[in-house]
Amino acid sequence: MALKDELGTITCVLDGAAPAYLNDSTEVRGLHGRADAVVVPESAEEVAAVLAWCYEHDVAIVARGGGTGYAGGAVPDGGVVIALERLNRIRSFDPLLWRINVEAGVTTGDVRRLAREHGLMFPPDPGGAEQSQIGGNIATNAGGPHAFKYGVTGKWVTGLEAAVPPGELIAVGGPTRKDVAGYDLRSLLIGSEGTLGVVTAAWLRLVPAPEAAHPIAAFYDGIAAGVRAIHRIYGSGLEVAALEYLDGGTLDAAGASFPVGMPEGAGFLVIAEADGSAAEAARLRDETVAVLRADALSVSAPSTPEEVAELWRWRDGVTFAVTAQLGAKLSEDLAVPLDRLEEAIEGTLEIGRRHGLPACSWGHAGDGNVHSTFLLAADDPDELGRASRAADDLLAMALDLGGTVSGEHGLGLVRSGWLARQWGERAASLHAEIKRVFDPKGLMNPGKKTAV
Ligand SMILES: Cc1cc2nc3c(=O)[nH]c(=O)nc-3n(C[C@H](O)[C@H](O)[C@H](O)COP(=O)(O)OP(=O)(O)OC[C@H]3O[C@@H](n4cnc5c(N)ncnc54)[C@H](O)[C@@H]3O)c2cc1C
Repeated sequence: MALKDELGTITCVLDGAAPAYLNDSTEVRGLHGRADAVVVPESAEEVAAVLAWCYEHDVAIVARGGGTGYAGGAVPDGGVVIALERLNRIRSFDPLLWRINVEAGVTTGDVRRLAREHGLMFPPDPGGAEQSQIGGNIATNAGGPHAFKYGVTGKWVTGLEAAVPPGELIAVGGPTRKDVAGYDLRSLLIGSEGTLGVVTAAWLRLVPAPEAAHPIAAFYDGIAAGVRAIHRIYGSGLEVAALEYLDGGTLDAAGASFPVGMPEGAGFLVIAEADGSAAEAARLRDETVAVLRADALSVSAPSTPEEVAELWRWRDGVTFAVTAQLGAKLSEDLAVPLDRLEEAIEGTLEIGRRHGLPACSWGHAGDGNVHSTFLLAADDPDELGRASRAADDLLAMALDLGGTVSGEHGLGLVRSGWLARQWGERAASLHAEIKRVFDPKGLMNPGKKTAV
């Protein structure tokens, strides 16, 4: 029997080539996948059965969430794509116990909304939340602006259900908030980018939503003044929830639609957010405004919920505004120690100049997380080639600065092999050995997140 027919006895197999399931957000880098079949299982048991069939027949398995990834992790090179979108049930929700158990295909946006409707918050807020899935967030250990105070996705996962080779469901952790009984397999699966198992469901922790949240936007004339302001926030001990930045090139692309207008000469923007009880958030906002004001061209703090939402909507749209400049872009997501932030932002521009590419960056300044970006014309192979070489220079710069080649998006395909340079040989070989323990045949998302 043909592969598709055999899989069809286990689960739903999509007809045709299903091109929508073969790319992710790296399509602009020329990454297009191919698959022998795309399946859309309806239950965790079906996922495990597909995995078992693939493992028995030496067929590669690529888990796919919302396809918003920026590392090519969900781009298959043959084999079977397991799309998780139909695993979209809320298995249980206990608002009074601040916890929820969801299947992997529930979108990030839906979890955040459901929590909100009950006075709670699921803090991870990656930008593609309406499309990305909880399983994909867990597989990449995604962050977002508010990771500065609240941490990345993994911090909010108390338990996982996953299908692992050769085709069994395991549960590690659960609704219990503390668990130190074994090796931390849950944390190993978190951020493993589908290379160890397929996440089918997760127990998530929630927190009471802060009563108030006040963003503050401060413009500066350039990188040096802006980074000084970020350091002052740290030094003053103000625990803001988010601490973001946009450099001058990014403002050139997105600044025209900034909700309250940009001051003349603006070359850098810092956005901080103060949250907590109404009184605490107001106090923190006032102190943050005072700290950001030194050297600033202007400081504004939206006051109504509509204005606050407008500011964050604008921030979410920055990536699209930058893409729209020339039609395409190539972004990396380095993270560096905070004392090297200015060098990473300046270095991005210098690497762009060296390769003849317009460059800019923005990102989660408080976490030293820099989205270094080159602007490209769509479908220009020469520019794409230069941008790929420039991207390698960015990764090398991150390591020179004592940072990491990925603060958020993962190694996937595009950064595979860089880990040995970042960690050294022995640590990288332990990474490879862990992979072999879970996946002795090397069929789980092959070619992704490889250490060497
Ligand atoms: C506009 C935009 C803004 C973004 N902003 C952020 C941001 O602020 N922070 C951030 O961290 N990222 C951000 N991203 C990147 C992306 O949203 C995250 O990496 C996200 O977590 C990917 O989720 P996904 O469901 O789309 O996964 P996919 O892209 O489908 O897959 C990503 C990886 O996870 C694996 N995977 C997916 N589902 C599962 C599963 N159930 N089990 C095992 N493995 C699985 C895939 O094999 C692949 O390796 C952004 C992307 C876009 C397009």
